[in-house]
Amino acid sequence: MDGRNRRIAIFGGTFDPFHNGHLRMAVEVLEGLSPADLYLVPSAHPPHKPSWPMAAAEDRLAMASAAVAGIKGITVLDLELRREGPSYSLLTVREVSKGNPEADLLFLIGADAFAEITTWHRYRDLLAACDFLLLPRPGIAPEASFPPGILIEPEGNHCYNLPGCSYRLPGGRRLLCPVLPVLDISSRSIREKVRRGRSLRGLVPPEVERHITDHGLYRGDEGG
Ligand code: ATP
Repeated sequence: MDGRNRRIAIFGGTFDPFHNGHLRMAVEVLEGLSPADLYLVPSAHPPHKPSWPMAAAEDRLAMASAAVAGIKGITVLDLELRREGPSYSLLTVREVSKGNPEADLLFLIGADAFAEITTWHRYRDLLAACDFLLLPRPGIAPEASFPPGILIEPEGNHCYNLPGCSYRLPGGRRLLCPVLPVLDISSRSIREKVRRGRSLRGLVPPEVERHITDHGLYRGDEGG
């Protein structure tokens, strides 16, 4: 293990629903970085999502929990459900940091989300609060997701045991861009399939498909 401190990866998301793209990325990070823990943090009140009829936070938490049950090294945290107000990632990173003051924190973020990071609550503080690891999304090259106006400097190829390259963020934190499989799965496409009565096989863990069916999720129209 390189680095002196315990490493904790934080994977936040709306997870509406949690799908195999999320799951595979979590497993790739577990195997490639060997963090002491990978925390999955479903967002209770995602500040960035339009107000479509999302599944209740409790359903999203239950689906993520069922999907990773028994995977050693992944823990689902309900801390954003226990917090009032918008689920700002900065608050989550600070809360995890407070509980693990000796750990190096690494925030996993998809390239689509990173491209919009300047719209996030106190994004400069967030970028300075922990390291980041960019997850590939289809059709977005890592550098193409770097928002204009933020100085991100190439550093080398420090991605723990994964191939890839690394950058320095303003404030000195690292942005890791490992080479990972690009999986063309999104929660939106899953919700769309449910509405059309299509199979979800191969796209979500069986436990998630069961929860969607048993609770009648995603049958209504979606705005946006
Ligand atoms: P939606 O389609 O509703 O916008 P989503 O599939 O992007 O949702 P989120 O819950 O918003 O899912 O994603 C949480 C995090 O996981 C984000 O940083 C997102 O970019 C990333 N992510 C989602 N799907 C994938 C995927 N297939 N591969 C890599 N990263 C992903």
